[in-house]
Amino acid sequence: MRPMIIAIDGYSSCGKSTLARQLAEILNYRYIDSGAMYRAITYALLRKQVDLDDIEAIQQALQDICLDVKYDPIQQRSVVWLNGQPVEEEIRSWEVSEAVSRVAAIPEIRAFAVTQQQAMGRQRGLVMDGRDIGTVVFPDAEVKIFMTADLHTRALRRWKELREKHPEISVEEVERNLRERDLIDTQRTVGPLKKADDAFVIDNTYLDEAQQLQVALDHVKAVAQNLPA
Ligand code: C5P
Repeated sequence: MRPMIIAIDGYSSCGKSTLARQLAEILNYRYIDSGAMYRAITYALLRKQVDLDDIEAIQQALQDICLDVKYDPIQQRSVVWLNGQPVEEEIRSWEVSEAVSRVAAIPEIRAFAVTQQQAMGRQRGLVMDGRDIGTVVFPDAEVKIFMTADLHTRALRRWKELREKHPEISVEEVERNLRERDLIDTQRTVGPLKKADDAFVIDNTYLDEAQQLQVALDHVKAVAQNLPA
């Protein structure tokens, strides 16, 4: 099978990264979580207490942000590094989740991240998940998947993951965070979350992980068979 780019987009907490990681493992592709890059930028700005309404301060701060995505053999996954430090743990904090969509809506931030994401795709054999991967980052991706699921189902899944670290956060609060992020992501002017015209839709409200993977794999194989040699 010729190496391809698989772009997976969709709403927050839809299981995009689970599917992306599984596909990458099966196909022996690299996996890049583009959301982790926006989270790392957000973490860097919050840490420096940059005013998110001050575009000049943001541009200044971006000059000191160096992102890298490296494979961690212990966790067996790619993790984001910020200025020479792995920040996987820090970028998953609730504080970052609350600010990230606001940060990701800033055009200068998107340009900064998209340039790096496109460079990562120069060599095909890549699965990348996010919001604008099939529309902006890789409009020429061979496979485009758009994932969705019922909001309450997504909130429940996310809440179960968060429960141990954040017992104080209720399902309602998680649902509010997801609704807010979806709204900001779909309504921003640059790189809004939307289904690419040629994307294959997977609604996983009633699918388990194994079923979702099978549906996606069947689609990937069908696309691969129809590609010119
Ligand atoms: O994927 P994840 O939920 O971790 O992404 C965090 C946030 O980063 C999203 O809510 C969205 O605002 C932003 N994002 C984006 N474009 C991407 C990936 C993520 O705007 N390609």
